Amino acid sequence: MTETRLRFPPSPTGYLHIGGARTALFNWLYAKKTGGKLILRIEDTDTERSTQDSIQGILDGLEWLGIDWDEGPYFQTEYSHDHLAAANRMLAESHAYKCFCTKEELEARKEAAMAAKQVVGYDGTCRNLSPEQVTEKESAGSPFVLRFKVPERSGMLGYDDKVLGRIEINYKEVDDFVIVRSNGTPLYLLCNVVDDIRDRISHVIRGQDHMTNTTRQVLLYEALGAPLPVFAHMPLTLDLKKAKISKRKHGEIVAVHFYQEHGFIPWALCNFLALLGWSPGDDREIFSREELIEAFSLERINKANSIFNYRLGDEKFFTDPKAIAINEHYLRTMDIGEIGDMVQKVLEKEGLWDLSYAGERKDWYLHTLDLTRDRFHTLNDFATLGRAYFADDFQVEKKPLEKNLLKFPELKEWLPQLADRYQTLDLFTAEETERVAKELADEKGVKPGVIINGMRTVVTGQLAGPSMYDILMVLGREKVVQRLRDVSRLFQ
Ligand code: GLU
Repeated sequence: MTETRLRFPPSPTGYLHIGGARTALFNWLYAKKTGGKLILRIEDTDTERSTQDSIQGILDGLEWLGIDWDEGPYFQTEYSHDHLAAANRMLAESHAYKCFCTKEELEARKEAAMAAKQVVGYDGTCRNLSPEQVTEKESAGSPFVLRFKVPERSGMLGYDDKVLGRIEINYKEVDDFVIVRSNGTPLYLLCNVVDDIRDRISHVIRGQDHMTNTTRQVLLYEALGAPLPVFAHMPLTLDLKKAKISKRKHGEIVAVHFYQEHGFIPWALCNFLALLGWSPGDDREIFSREELIEAFSLERINKANSIFNYRLGDEKFFTDPKAIAINEHYLRTMDIGEIGDMVQKVLEKEGLWDLSYAGERKDWYLHTLDLTRDRFHTLNDFATLGRAYFADDFQVEKKPLEKNLLKFPELKEWLPQLADRYQTLDLFTAEETERVAKELADEKGVKPGVIINGMRTVVTGQLAGPSMYDILMVLGREKVVQRLRDVSRLFQ
């Protein structure tokens, strides 16, 4: 069998969005699954809109996601010679012709066709110009475009789509389309095919929004004498209001960097994206890299649009809750060493990283993450909800402050008393600290919960969390005593 060759050809006109990342992921998965190659091609021929920042953003996004490629990045602009050579060959072989119709003429004919309720499309005026007519117009300096000459055939033009089955449209509906503009630049439709042929692409996996291009591209393959690749068109991704998710409409939430900045685990996002348009055929939702590669197939790409479960305007969650749930799964079950490396980056960014964690306190650091991760949703939560473990300047949340502290003014006296007892304890252990807290509650005639919840609020700033005594051990005597003693600042 010949090698499978996949490609991811983004246009660098903005950031890498989750739709693009999903396309990259599906191509990557199929390349890995078949032992083939993934080619990265930057389709930068729209020089007005392509930017260096966008190219960098795409490369960074792919790297962050762990989607690697085997060849490239190739830049489409570096191959314009190939694109024009292909166009000229088609011209020489009568698969294309020069069209001198002006914009105004085309517009007028279009309006007339519309008024007469006829098919709107190029009417073939220049298709049968004699060589003399062409020469005459050229010598008069009339500008021209190159149009593809759609074969005069009856019946259907089509291809077999791996996801959607046979796709066909009537030849009558395909008009002669432009392949080179009057300024001599080739159109994307052509460049894309020429590059795919040169790069020996065997499978084209891309969004259904490209399907109108595909039918015309099928004709280009034929004219250029190249075999068709396998086409697999992926469903579109819609929001809950059935609008196609887009940068313009949804903003940052569709950007890959949004997930990076919000503390997503890269593979968790890949896992989520895989389910946005593909399903394993059973109810599994969590896949390791290897499992996903193993389970992935083009046939199981969904035909129906995928829904990004998010409604602009009434955001209860900051993104699709399934994405968050998958991230939580990885956050809570991944090897703690790996989590530690990822959280380190977050802490560094927040200025909370202490170099000593890397040395002898590494065990303390990993233990702290392991203790707290069960309630966290993203890596960033370690720096926000978990800030009290890494710094003294943490926020005390309003809810526990009111419910567990301000409601019991006596705690202003009692918690410093508890601090004194903790200070003088022989052994600062979970058992001893628990015993002393309960003893104090008994003495004061309140339930232990009053003391414990007050203490939790003061030492972590949070309403809930891991076992209180585990927390005390992680924080250590000095910090605990100091925070309990300082309780009065919270009563002001
Ligand atoms: N440059 C195109 C895009 O970003 C890629 C189209 C294709 O996959 O053929 O939409």
